[in-house]
Amino acid sequence: MPQHLTVRELSETLGVTPVDIIKELMKRGVMAAINQSVEYDVAAGVAKDLGFEVEAESLGGGVGERMEHGDEAADLKPRPPVVTVMGHVDHGKTSLLDAIRKTNVVASEAGAITQHIGAYQVEVPNPDDPKQPKKVTFIETPGHEAFTAMRARGATVTDLVVLVVAADDGIMPQTREAIDHTKAAGVPMIVAVNKVDLPAADPTRVKTQLTESGIVVEEFGGDVPAIEVSAKTKAGLDSLLEHILLVAEISDLRANPDRPAEGTVIESEKDPNRGPMATVIIQKGTLHIGDIVVAGEAWGKVKAMFDDKLRRIKLAGPSMPVEIMGLEAVPKAGDVMVVAEDERAARDMADEHRRQGGEASARTMTLEAVSGDIAAGRVKDLNVILKADVQGSVEAIRSSLERLSGQEVRVNVVHAGAGNINESDVMLAAASKAIIVGFNVKTEPGGRNQADIEGVDIRNYQIIYELIEDVEKAVKGLMEPVVAEVTDGHAEVRAIFKVRGGKAAGCMVQDGVVRRSSLARVLRGGEMIHESRVSSLKRFTEDVREVTAGLECGIGVEKFDAWQEGDVIEAFHMEQRG
Ligand code: GDP
Repeated sequence: MPQHLTVRELSETLGVTPVDIIKELMKRGVMAAINQSVEYDVAAGVAKDLGFEVEAESLGGGVGERMEHGDEAADLKPRPPVVTVMGHVDHGKTSLLDAIRKTNVVASEAGAITQHIGAYQVEVPNPDDPKQPKKVTFIETPGHEAFTAMRARGATVTDLVVLVVAADDGIMPQTREAIDHTKAAGVPMIVAVNKVDLPAADPTRVKTQLTESGIVVEEFGGDVPAIEVSAKTKAGLDSLLEHILLVAEISDLRANPDRPAEGTVIESEKDPNRGPMATVIIQKGTLHIGDIVVAGEAWGKVKAMFDDKLRRIKLAGPSMPVEIMGLEAVPKAGDVMVVAEDERAARDMADEHRRQGGEASARTMTLEAVSGDIAAGRVKDLNVILKADVQGSVEAIRSSLERLSGQEVRVNVVHAGAGNINESDVMLAAASKAIIVGFNVKTEPGGRNQADIEGVDIRNYQIIYELIEDVEKAVKGLMEPVVAEVTDGHAEVRAIFKVRGGKAAGCMVQDGVVRRSSLARVLRGGEMIHESRVSSLKRFTEDVREVTAGLECGIGVEKFDAWQEGDVIEAFHMEQRG
């Protein structure tokens, strides 16, 4: 853990909601808002109490040669909120974003607004200081899919979610998904009840339905503001902006503008004339022309910067969306952008990111692995995403799963819904380190692919009892890793020859493939006489990684020399189910 950490950063580091961190701090008599920094000892104490092992980051180093700066509480200045709009398809997300943008643009700039950079900032009159209007940043890629995909990459850009619900249609499946994705991220929410201009609009029904989905609006005694708006007539938009600023104020959003910039890429493209372009939301510090930046695998010197109206600018501070030119490659949405000391440091960091990226995808979170972690006391939560064929099964299974929570381990149903397992479920699982359990449902092809890439465990069941039993075993830390043997191939021994340190077999691969990494057993007359691993694999004199059926090769087997012609080498490997 670094020496200086805000509550938010501590929450992100530990993967614990800010609210839980604040509660832990309160237990220690420390009252801190989300963007205030906490002393190292206090932060370390909280982390330990939450079951983490803590190691202090050395003062000299940090990540690579990236410039590390502690942000003292006194350096933190208020910054505008960054907002993402979510909701069911056709409920008016895009219309709302357009309407807010258009009402906020003065006539002289109207021409510029046809061009977009992926996010925009609006100004809201400030009654306290008319010369200093307040600002709100909107991300223009609406939807919880993009939001959670970024979160799965480790990026948290959004401070506040506006949930759009059409007043004539009410809560729909994607509204529920958006609610769960927002809750999983621990981000505050405002509801925009849209299309109130329609005769069929019934805002009260929407608010009642929200209560049933666990969102209690202020009018009903809860803490979620619900604003009635119309993207068409523009009614209620000012009130929506005011409420966004109000919620932002409670969150006490702050950043230190006087330090090298850090931000997150939200969009990128290769422009035929300008080269790689990336839209970045600055989160800390100020970005200047000429800064050397790294974003994921891309690095470069900022040659030019453009604001949301595509005007050239020289610097960009916290919460500002900015398009940057000068990267030598196109970064990915969700990549973190930082300023590096010099070009060499930047190149090293980009290379390092490339190397790590290749390995990260191989990690799979399986129910067995979580069970092992629970047994070892490393985790206290089992996050589950539940999909079932009908709503009735969803409710029944959900309550059975939640009843498995004990004193030691809590079962969190992060999201539950009727329908097939889709890509958005998989991204939510990846972002929340959750397991997906399905009952009588299929996995959509896009979801399957994404699960392989993200290493997400999807388990389908036809019998409710088996589903519950598996999760129960995991909660009790009793689930054994299921390891299965997979045969790679067979090779017949045709000749024996001496090699340095022993004997090897000249073989013909009969079926499958023999790999340098294979485990091996030697069979004679169908019976196993030795089992170890392949110690050398050669084609002629060349060392090779694998030899396929129909080819000759030389095979050495660890701790075995007693070859006879006609022996068969069976190559295999062990695979963990998941
Ligand atoms: P999205 O899929 O959530 O982005 O929804 P859109 O913004 O594309 O809107 C879907 C449809 O609803 C479009 O035909 C819009 O014109 C319409 N719409 C959006 N907001 C309103 C509104 O406030 N009132 C009315 N009457 N129609 C709206």
